[in-house]
Amino acid sequence: MNQVVSYKTNFIRQIIDKDLARGMHAIVRTRFPPEPNGYLHIGHAKSICLNFTIAADYKGQCHLRFDDTNPVNENMEFIESIKHDVTWLGFQWHGSIRYASDFFEQQYAYAIELIKKGLAYVDELSPNLIREYRGSLTVAGQNSPYRNRSVVDNLKLFSQMRNGDFSEGAACLRAKINMASSFMILRDPVLYRIKFIDHHQTGNKWCIYPMYDFAHCISDALEGITHSLCTMEFQDNRRLYDWILNNITIATHPQQYEFSRLNLEYAITSKRHLNRLVTEQIVEGWDDPRMLTLAGMRRRGYTAASIREFCRRIGITKQENLIEIAALESCIREDLNENAPRAMAVLDAVRVFIINLPDGYERMLSMPCHPNKNEMGTRVVPFTKEIYIDRSDFCEEPRKNYKRLMIGKEVRLRHACTIKAESIEKDDLGQITCIFCSCDVNTFNGDPIDGRKITGVIHWVSFQYALSAEFRLYEPLFTSVNPAASEDIFNTLNPNSMMIRQGFVENSMQYAPISLAYQFEREGYFCADSVHSTANKLVFNRIVGLRQTWLNSNT
Ligand code: ATP
Ligand code: MG
Repeated sequence: MNQVVSYKTNFIRQIIDKDLARGMHAIVRTRFPPEPNGYLHIGHAKSICLNFTIAADYKGQCHLRFDDTNPVNENMEFIESIKHDVTWLGFQWHGSIRYASDFFEQQYAYAIELIKKGLAYVDELSPNLIREYRGSLTVAGQNSPYRNRSVVDNLKLFSQMRNGDFSEGAACLRAKINMASSFMILRDPVLYRIKFIDHHQTGNKWCIYPMYDFAHCISDALEGITHSLCTMEFQDNRRLYDWILNNITIATHPQQYEFSRLNLEYAITSKRHLNRLVTEQIVEGWDDPRMLTLAGMRRRGYTAASIREFCRRIGITKQENLIEIAALESCIREDLNENAPRAMAVLDAVRVFIINLPDGYERMLSMPCHPNKNEMGTRVVPFTKEIYIDRSDFCEEPRKNYKRLMIGKEVRLRHACTIKAESIEKDDLGQITCIFCSCDVNTFNGDPIDGRKITGVIHWVSFQYALSAEFRLYEPLFTSVNPAASEDIFNTLNPNSMMIRQGFVENSMQYAPISLAYQFEREGYFCADSVHSTANKLVFNRIVGLRQTWLNSNT
């Protein structure tokens, strides 16, 4: 999983194959065009993988272009995070970073060209009236009373807009297309609006900003993009994309193709909603390990390879669907099963006292870091007279078929010897405080010599040597399978999305590098939290359990 795997073929690749066979392009050029108004999420990963792997597989180029036409919600933090996330995911854009704002001057010139051709006009209807005049799917729109101004007037007014002579909302530039079109997008769409706000790239140079639809097709064409790939909701916008490029003097005309968005069960992939979770402090930030942002997933312990593999598996179609969260989880599980070193951690500890070992008994045990990868080496773990096991691995009431520890029953301690529970001690509240066991010291290197069958295996850590640690266990942020469909996503917040446990890890974890994922045997895959974990206080995020359990317990 360490390599960027090629996609199987899909309808977009088939189109490209045909275009190339017809000699339409000397080179395939795609782009990933995020708006820097939030962090990237798993849905963006689908688009990134598509654009960058197509460019790579066809020996073409993929640009990273910020669609920065609405400075109100954009900022440098988002730009930096997006650059970092794309790189982390394993991709490198061709050439320098690009911005739609690099082309503001050219876009302005193209707007002038449209005005001169009688194809754009300055409208002074208020935004509300513009909406009203637009009509609806069943009612044709109405022409604005300003629609038939002369070219000379329009040129003068548009230049006044640029000069800041109008206030926000007092005027805008609209394309003159058809107020009765069955495509709402073609009912004289707004091309420029006034915003007196500084822009992160252009400062206070502009007070008019192009709309996405106007800037996008022109930026694509100026960059020589051949295939402009976007999601299905832009299907109708393609009419405007083509209308603009057909009506200005520009050398190339990229083709837009749409594919379905990634929608994931129990998750939201909309920056607007993610932003709300952050600003209303439902989560710690954009990189909260429960967020399906790339920053959150990275902090949680997802590997870039597992996300690329997930994107490869879901494929590219025009079909809208909801992908099972299990599909994402199996990608990370498969990766970590193969690559994560093993260690032991006890999340809900109870003390075990081994009565037949001498006081102060210690034995250093060498354990493989991976059960079938010798090259990952071994680690040394002390075994002592007192250990911790997980509370759930002991059952007070005798139970048939119970594989773990019970009074009178013998189990194997993982990588150590067998123990048998003899008696327990409880506190005043009836909680077990200690389990007294005997052990068979002849079983460190194999089965009991008398042929006793030991079926259960439990994990443990040394009472004296273990390091205390916090474990954060996660469930999806939402209880609804499709939270975006609920009236308010906040009605479906999962109160158990983060559960905190205080426990212990084996002492070899003292120097565990942050961001390296481990399998804590029988507990799942974990990764030290890059924000909260310190040498004095280890904090681990559970990336994913060993098996899918969350859904089973909820359905
Ligand atoms: P959001 O709704 O989260 O704001 P967006 O589409 O407005 O998403 P952009 O930053 O404009 O976000 O998206 C950049 C690119 O990523 C676009 O080409 C967009 O189509 C694509 N993209 C965004 N969300 C998804 C998704 N869920 N699945 C696939 N592609 C997506
Ligand atoms: Mg967008």
